[in-house]
Amino acid sequence: MNPKHVAIIGGGVSGLAAGIHLARQGARVSLFEANEALGGCCSTTEMDGYTFNNGAMFIAVPRLLDHAFARLGLDRAAQLPLRRIAVPQASQLPSGALITLGDRRHIRIDGKDSAARTATLQAELERCMDKWLPLLDIFTDQLLPQPLSLPRVIAKAWRHLPKLRGSLADELKRSFSDPEARAALAAVTLYAGLPIERTPVSLIVGLISLLEDGLHLPEGGMGSIGALLAATLRQLGGQIHTGAKVAKIAIKDKRAQGLLLAGGEQIACDAVISTVGGMNTFSHLADSDQVPRAMRRRVQGAPLSHRTLSIQLGLANRLQPAAHSVNHIPLMEEQKRMLAPQAGGIKWFSYTVPTLPMPELAPPGGSIVEMFAAVDENLPLEAWTEQAKTAAADAAIAALAQQQPLEIVTRRITSPKNYAERMHLFGGAVYGLSPAARPDQQFPHKTPIDGLYLAGQTTYPGFGVATAMFSGVFAAEALNGR
Ligand SMILES: Cc1cc2nc3c(=O)[nH]c(=O)nc-3n(C[C@H](O)[C@H](O)[C@H](O)COP(=O)(O)OP(=O)(O)OC[C@H]3O[C@@H](n4cnc5c(N)ncnc54)[C@H](O)[C@@H]3O)c2cc1C
Repeated sequence: MNPKHVAIIGGGVSGLAAGIHLARQGARVSLFEANEALGGCCSTTEMDGYTFNNGAMFIAVPRLLDHAFARLGLDRAAQLPLRRIAVPQASQLPSGALITLGDRRHIRIDGKDSAARTATLQAELERCMDKWLPLLDIFTDQLLPQPLSLPRVIAKAWRHLPKLRGSLADELKRSFSDPEARAALAAVTLYAGLPIERTPVSLIVGLISLLEDGLHLPEGGMGSIGALLAATLRQLGGQIHTGAKVAKIAIKDKRAQGLLLAGGEQIACDAVISTVGGMNTFSHLADSDQVPRAMRRRVQGAPLSHRTLSIQLGLANRLQPAAHSVNHIPLMEEQKRMLAPQAGGIKWFSYTVPTLPMPELAPPGGSIVEMFAAVDENLPLEAWTEQAKTAAADAAIAALAQQQPLEIVTRRITSPKNYAERMHLFGGAVYGLSPAARPDQQFPHKTPIDGLYLAGQTTYPGFGVATAMFSGVFAAEALNGR
């Protein structure tokens, strides 16, 4: 019998992971990526000798990445060496206090009453770690590496479920007495783009993991992950087509039968895995008359994640900040002001210096700095003209220049419109679905259209490099009837 021919849309980590899993099971795999390069939001682009991230900046929860690699028959430690980021995060508060969060529970407050405040914070942190470490282990080792199942969640985590009620703000208020320490801890989840009062308390496991297991960079930078997965898929016989944008999924009688490429070529296949997000798949790639009404409603009601303006600078000078990521932040309750453009000049902001742990990402003596500036979420994508994005970026760069010497050699600015057009992110929303989306708002791996499966960051277990890889594995397993 001929092996099953599976077409995969998207060459990010979820599509590559799905391809590897299927190829190992004997399927014939053809992967189609719209861009010339693979890796999607976990890739890098070199500009003038500077290696800029195209999305993901670090590996959090490294154990989860190990599990994802193991599921693909890969040895993460041998094939993808990671470099630990010695000091992941520092927060500068208005009082002048500097709070540094290191891994292995190193945490320090510099400023007034430094020793006493640090001791109190360390004691409170130990209690917080005791409370949440078991849940980090359950999430990392037992729940996230499996498809979502309520019975499994109850069986593994029932003791901890009451803790998962409420917001991260409530938990930080309960656990930490020092308002500035709370601000620094809350800032770890600024990446989620949510007000802390609406950030699910479950995101605390990211903070706990940072303090326990640290943040990491793959040797060679984030692009090494996609490159390794692509090489593996090719070795297993998978066909990878770049510059191959899919225009339509051919669906007949509610069954996926192939793809139509933007260039006009038709591809016949037995099944399709789309990794380009549930919203993109059902509103652009599938003809609406083939999409069941319930799925159309899910697309319409999908809570999108935030948009952002990314500013990446290649510098001739070497920056030596206090940490890989530096936050200039107000107290926790005011941090929501960082999620919208700040009137009268940017006062609060965060930046990351990937060359601090990995100087070789820049030419000798130089460095890279990356910032995300908040945008007006109501602004339509068309409003992001070159002029508008330059003005917004200049304001953020001016704020940064007050803190760090910037000898700018090259710069890359990515607006929400660029994210939508270059990275194909639906509406420019960086994670697809909001990190606050409920499990029932995520898209299923097996869709109501026969032969059409979904993976990627709008499906369980959501956005993130390792979780996206797992979603590819789960879609492949669903396709194989497991
Ligand atoms: C700005 C940003 C920062 C992030 N930071 C981190 C971080 O620090 N750590 C972390 O773990 N995660 C981070 N993430 C999340 C993580 O990068 C993503 O969740 C993950 O890489 C998504 O992988 P994916 O394969 O699901 O999707 P994608 O990487 O989006 O891959 C989908 C691919 O499909 C292609 N495509 C789209 N439409 C078509 C079409 N019609 N035809 C063919 N191909 C198509 C796209 O070009 C893309 O390559 C970040 C994401 C962003 C955007």
